[in-house]
Amino acid sequence: MNKSKDFLRRIVEEDLNSGKYQEIVTRFPPEPNGFPHIGHAKSISINFGIARDYKGHCNLRMDDTNPTKEDTKYVEALKNAVQWLGFEWNKRVHFTSDYFPKLYDYAVELIKMDKAYVDSLSEDEIRQYRGTVTTAGERSKYAKRSVEENLNLFEQMKNGKFKDGEHVLRAKIDMSASNMKMRDPLLYRIRHAHHFRAGDAWSIYPMYDFAHCLSDYIEGVTHSICTLEFENNRDIYDWVLDTLKLNPPRPYQYEFARLNINYTVMSKRKLLELVEGGVVSGWDDPRMPTIAGYKRRGYTPESILNFCEQIGIAKANSMVDVSQLEFSIRDDLNQKVPRVMCVINPLKITIVNYEGSEEIDASYYPHDVPKEGERKLPFSKEIYIDRDDFMENPVKGYFRLTPMQSVRLKYAYIITCKEVIKDTNDTIIEIKAEYHPNSKSGADTSGIKVKSAIQWVEAKTAKKVEVRLYDRLFKDEIPQGVENINPESLKIIKNALIEPAVITDKPDVRFQFEREGYFYADPILYKDTAPVFNKIVGLKDSWTKKKKTDKKPANTQTKKVQIDGEATPMNADEQALFDKYSSELKLNNEVANTLARDKTLSNFYEDALSTLNSPVNIANLVVNEVARELKQKEISELKFSAKQISELVKMVDDEIISTKIAKQVFVEMSKNGENPKQIVQTKGLVQISDPAKILPIIDKIIANNPDNVQKFKAGNSKLLGFFVGQVLKNTGGKANPKVVNELIIKQLQ
Ligand code: ATP
Ligand code: MG
Repeated sequence: MNKSKDFLRRIVEEDLNSGKYQEIVTRFPPEPNGFPHIGHAKSISINFGIARDYKGHCNLRMDDTNPTKEDTKYVEALKNAVQWLGFEWNKRVHFTSDYFPKLYDYAVELIKMDKAYVDSLSEDEIRQYRGTVTTAGERSKYAKRSVEENLNLFEQMKNGKFKDGEHVLRAKIDMSASNMKMRDPLLYRIRHAHHFRAGDAWSIYPMYDFAHCLSDYIEGVTHSICTLEFENNRDIYDWVLDTLKLNPPRPYQYEFARLNINYTVMSKRKLLELVEGGVVSGWDDPRMPTIAGYKRRGYTPESILNFCEQIGIAKANSMVDVSQLEFSIRDDLNQKVPRVMCVINPLKITIVNYEGSEEIDASYYPHDVPKEGERKLPFSKEIYIDRDDFMENPVKGYFRLTPMQSVRLKYAYIITCKEVIKDTNDTIIEIKAEYHPNSKSGADTSGIKVKSAIQWVEAKTAKKVEVRLYDRLFKDEIPQGVENINPESLKIIKNALIEPAVITDKPDVRFQFEREGYFYADPILYKDTAPVFNKIVGLKDSWTKKKKTDKKPANTQTKKVQIDGEATPMNADEQALFDKYSSELKLNNEVANTLARDKTLSNFYEDALSTLNSPVNIANLVVNEVARELKQKEISELKFSAKQISELVKMVDDEIISTKIAKQVFVEMSKNGENPKQIVQTKGLVQISDPAKILPIIDKIIANNPDNVQKFKAGNSKLLGFFVGQVLKNTGGKANPKVVNELIIKQLQ
């Protein structure tokens, strides 16, 4: 490792030095409900990487506790991804479902200790009894059941005597715990569903919080590394293992920030939508951020691992610029792959003064002296160049072929345009040119000055290839979902022409097409008789150039504290701020951490706080929206003030607008500095809380979705989210979600 160690490796080293563990055991525990994506690659590189660095081992464990969504094809995809990235799991693949009998026994043990009970409240009641962040919950009356009754009921649950949802098994912890997750969390639920491995043997399935810690323990895991969303679950993790008084050593959970990349969605659920909706050709569509997609696109495992290492392991969530991933692959291929010539948009050139044919030597690695390898380029009277490399009426600064300007054919001769031939539509169909016999590359005595050398292919020997050009799948920097697909994310070019040496029957090859980018023979479609190449990445970061608003060069490293290799310890001032924010102002650790480590941001925050006492809501807006602006701008360039931020938050606090609308107002405000109240007024964004206005919309949605209504009434309470979402959508996000929630429940009763 060339970098200073990340916080996880430091913990691991301490634990080895102190003798807490003899061997380091990590695990990568995906749920097999979709193909793994680049976020998983990060988790893989951390877990397998740590095991490798400290000579321990890493288990690949399928976390298959949710019978309805999982499938063996996803298991295979996960195995392939790990192997492709170059890692080996210890012995065999593990499955949480293999531990179902053991987990059941542990649950029975908890019941016997009077630390777990069968609850018979409904899902809604359980939610109501749980209380809120500010009020304690209330324990279910069923918690008083005797150990015998619990054992009996739990066994019957297992034996399929009850319907889904009739009972659950809960831990008996503390209904007034400040960590809401500790308020008697669910351990088991009834699910009459077929499991892809366990078959129909089980009618109950363990919840993540129960299964995960115990699976770790059973496998002898030492460091259970997961993403920040699980921070609050750590208390349950510890509670289960400690309460069962298991033989040491036991595993401990550590959290790191999940990887987010702009212009990319990274949730298996959303990716599944793209696949099922036919937006992409499959999980391995080269535009997908899946490992299978990158592999098919032509990314190398090294480039992905380098990327994971460069972005580091941090404790605060952040957004990584997708250009950084693109940089990694470019950087990896630059030295490795041969350079060849492909003409993507061919324009015919007839060299009127050339007769016969010849073969020209050309290096595959023209810029890297040590690397050997060359091929022969056929040359004759008829060649093709790219249409973009000729301009009849050139713009200023155009260095390629024009009627007035000669150009070099790479590795070959200088040519000069003599005549431009057009069809009846005025489209150029051919150029008549002359070549300069004494201008051959490497032996040029012509004295003619040219400003560039362009790629070309010889007409008779060139092969036709299909070239697939990719762009970002989503138009938006932070894509919401399927709506924002970039229609230009795939361009298929059927009639590109390539030099003959490139085409072989061995498809697993990458090339740099000179002046175009890096390309990979599509592993599925490629045939030597009908070659297809995927563009992996361009030669330069063309996207940053396109975004005119970006004043600074793409700052891919963004904020040091957020994504650099390790979370450096806070200095005393930062620590004091952090303590104040987390304990006095009750900000969550992540938000407090981000603010405390960033002076500009915390000053701004405190400014806003001085005019409105709403610490949590202001902090959220500052850490998310304002921080994003500050990645691209200096504080002096911001169009809005801290005071305006408090005004905006105030409207949310007063329920004049929803948080969703607040984001929209923020975008406006950051563009032109307009007063937030003004924006809300002129755009008519005031939240709608009047039932008389909301009810007709709800009724319409209910009428239009009879199936979902039925399912909801039959007990699928998750559909509440669907209905609320529909109403919000129908009102452009303006309906008051709380009111909508209540009204829908009323209407559907
Ligand atoms: P998704 O929402 O995409 O399904 P998940 O977290 O539910 O992701 P799992 O299959 O449960 O996916 O995750 C397997 C492992 O990969 C977990 O340890 C998880 O924390 C990690 N992981 C998933 N997404 C990311 C990410 N974006 N960055 C880092 N690690 C991730
Ligand atoms: Mg998941």
